[in-house]
Amino acid sequence: MSDSDTHDPTSLRTPIVAVLGHVDHGKTSLLDKIRGSAVIEGEAGAITQHIGATAVPLDVISSIAGELVDPDDFDLPGLLFIDTPGHHSFTTLRSRGGALADIAILVVDVNDGFQPQTLEALDILQRSQTPFIVAANKIDTVPGWNANEDSPINATYEAQSDRVRSRLDESLYEIIGNLSDEGFSADLYWRVQNFQRNVGVVPVSAMTGEGVPDLLAVMMGLSQRYMKEEMEIDVAGPGVGTVLEVKEEKGFGKTIDLVLYDGTLRASDTIVVGGTNEPIVTDVRALLQPRPLEEIRTESRFEKVDEVSAATGIKVAAPDLGDAIAGAPVRVIRDRDRADVVAEVEDELASIAVDTEEAG
Ligand code: GDP
Repeated sequence: MSDSDTHDPTSLRTPIVAVLGHVDHGKTSLLDKIRGSAVIEGEAGAITQHIGATAVPLDVISSIAGELVDPDDFDLPGLLFIDTPGHHSFTTLRSRGGALADIAILVVDVNDGFQPQTLEALDILQRSQTPFIVAANKIDTVPGWNANEDSPINATYEAQSDRVRSRLDESLYEIIGNLSDEGFSADLYWRVQNFQRNVGVVPVSAMTGEGVPDLLAVMMGLSQRYMKEEMEIDVAGPGVGTVLEVKEEKGFGKTIDLVLYDGTLRASDTIVVGGTNEPIVTDVRALLQPRPLEEIRTESRFEKVDEVSAATGIKVAAPDLGDAIAGAPVRVIRDRDRADVVAEVEDELASIAVDTEEAG
């Protein structure tokens, strides 16, 4: 019996989350805050280091979110955040012709409100039909705000003065109004019944962590409720992913960082990668993950692993990756016909090229 026969054939993968929004509205800070909280809350070993993405497992989400997330209510394994926020990364990273991200967070500064890139992000999200929630960020900058580190929003809201509360309300309703002007029916997230029809607005501070429990709870709830079927994958099947970045790595030559969104990728696999001229067919030399910080001395920053399963970020060292392109598909051949897999990669690349021309 081969190794793959011992796996449950279908399993639920982690939804992939992207962060979008206007420059300086707090995308990077929010990702840093989520990562930071996850590291503090995580049991030793619970946080798996990834390449280009951060996995926050359900038990860690549940300890950050407290009573907002009961792990027994969920069977999705957590959330995978793409580490590079922004529109370019969102539009470049595709999977099977759609967006690689299953779900998005649109960050809007409560004081600065809607800005050109906020509108651009809405347009991108609408065109790619990606479900999203709005993080109304920087609530700690409302004049007179009394910060309660890492608190859920209702507790910190109750702890503010009437004047501060009404100032925040004003800013939030302005954002809700702006969303409605753009054709999105939106409301504060605790008033939203159906997240498929309405956009939930979550007040947060990437600085103090206030509202971050709510943000994670809403993302988890939305995924569980509306995306569970899309998350069903053949976990032991040949891996499928998208190139995040092509990078020279000392000792390994040209490598690709990729997000695997289906199946398994093994160090013994032959893969097909989208390239500038034609698909590259190459044998994996090594699958590399970041080495835990405490183990980095003179050794490589990376450690080799035998296999990884979706959804995850991973670095792949293999010959001939010089022409690989960011955003291109990656597919494992394994026991499939090599020509079929090459044709699939060609088709996907062609559909990306057409979309890029249309967008331009
Ligand atoms: P990005 O361009 O959207 O990634 O924005 P950054 O995360 O780089 O944030 C821009 C600036 O806003 C930085 O100086 C952050 O420290 C600050 N910032 C981000 N989030 C918050 C917040 O919630 N509260 C406060 N007070 N400052 C914030």
